[in-house]
Amino acid sequence: AKEEGRNGFCFYTRDLNTDAKAKLELEAALSHALERDEFVLHYQPQVDARTGRMAGVEALLRWNRRGAGMVSPGQFIPLAERSGLIVAIGNWVIEAACRQIRTWLDAGVKPPRVAVNVSARQFAEGDLDVVLRGAMRRHRVPAALIEVELTESMLVHDPDKTEILLSRLKALGIRLSLDDFGTGYSSLGYLQRFPIDTLKIDQSFIRRIGTQPDGGALADAVIALAHRLNLRVIAEGVETPQQHQHLLDQGCDEIQGYLFGKPMPAPDLLERLAGGACS
Ligand code: C2E
Ligand code: CA
Ligand code: CA
Ligand code: CA
Repeated sequence: AKEEGRNGFCFYTRDLNTDAKAKLELEAALSHALERDEFVLHYQPQVDARTGRMAGVEALLRWNRRGAGMVSPGQFIPLAERSGLIVAIGNWVIEAACRQIRTWLDAGVKPPRVAVNVSARQFAEGDLDVVLRGAMRRHRVPAALIEVELTESMLVHDPDKTEILLSRLKALGIRLSLDDFGTGYSSLGYLQRFPIDTLKIDQSFIRRIGTQPDGGALADAVIALAHRLNLRVIAEGVETPQQHQHLLDQGCDEIQGYLFGKPMPAPDLLERLAGGACS
């Protein structure tokens, strides 16, 4: 029994060591990813719910880790957030998105609006407006083509500071979107306090449509709320024609999801843009 116990213990520590080692390796590799130029943006279409025309794209970060292939943000963003690397990475995302828009403009392509995700740390640093203005100037990108996706939890942490930063972003002409709406804080007061343009209905609410009686109730409520406040509303994670139809009937403005396209590299998106029709 004693030996068994010892064996069990050995196994346990070995597993922990393996886990810790993999994590340390991932973190070390991540700290070199920027200088090694291993990040790339993929773009997912956001289409007009009625016409199916591409109105915008969301820029989603991918890490092409040396010797390991593509790593999804679910794996490395939390790590980058904890180590603080997310600020430099987030700045790279803004720079890369603006550079891409400039490439489209120079090629004579009408660029879609590009939404970039901003992390809590990046937002708390407080100089997001400076970073965005710098990148837009450098690449001569009109602010109307840029949207920033924020989450509810970042806004409520320090409302006074948030108000100042958001009004600076609005002064630049950038659009502000609330991501994963309905999953975070339930205080709605800030929807009127802060200059938000768009609500993004969280995927979890979309998944329920058609799967249970009243499964669409939450999505419907968010659409009604958004429109009552004169906000645009976009549904995320739309995978089926039934979900699309339901959202269309409810007056949802834009749709994003696998039904209309997965996140794709810029060359593939260019094909879609050049091809015209989008569904
Ligand atoms: P998010 O901002 O909520 O992004 C939407 C996620 O849903 C993306 O996952 C997208 O690929 C996925 N998605 C879109 N349509 C569908 C669909 O129809 N079905 C399903 N099942 N999934 C769909 P992704 O690209 O793996 O990104 C995960 C999260 O990582 C993002 O969630 C965001 O929080 C974070 N992230 C991605 N890029 C960045 C970035 O540049 N900066 C920061 N700070 N976070 C990022
Ligand atoms: Ca997002
Ligand atoms: Ca989201
Ligand atoms: Ca999410």
